[in-house]
Amino acid sequence: MDNKNEINKSTDLVEIVGIQLKEAGMPVKGRIDVDDVYCKGCELCASVCPQKVIHMAPDRITAKGFHPAELMKEGCTGCGVCAVMCPEAAITVYRETQAARAAAGA
Ligand code: SF4
Ligand code: SF4
Repeated sequence: MDNKNEINKSTDLVEIVGIQLKEAGMPVKGRIDVDDVYCKGCELCASVCPQKVIHMAPDRITAKGFHPAELMKEGCTGCGVCAVMCPEAAITVYRETQAARAAAGA
C-alpha cells in the first residue's frame, strides 16, 4: 500500500465532505483533545490536517519524552481526519453544530 496516496485520498475526501457540510450549513467549527498518555509526537495528524492548525507543543513533553500534538490556532472544523489517521487513537474531536450555535445565540 502507498501510504502517501492513501493519506492524500483521505485528505481529498475530507475536503470534499467539508465543502458539502458548509454548503448544507452543517458543522464547521471544532476542536480536538489529545491524550498525552498515548500521543507519540509522530506529527501525522499535523501533516494531514486540511486546516493546518495542529503542531507539536514546543513547551510540553509527555511522560514518554515526546512533544505532544495540540491545536495552535483557531480554524479547526471538526472534520475528524486527524483522529482517523492517528495511529495511537489519541485524538478526540468535538464539533459545534449549527443547532448548538443557534441555541447559544451565536
Ligand atoms: S498522530 Fe496521534 S500520536 Fe501522532 S502526533 Fe498526532 S496525536 Fe500524537
Ligand atoms: S478535526 Fe480536522 S480541522 Fe480539526 S484539527 Fe483535526 S484534521 Fe484539523
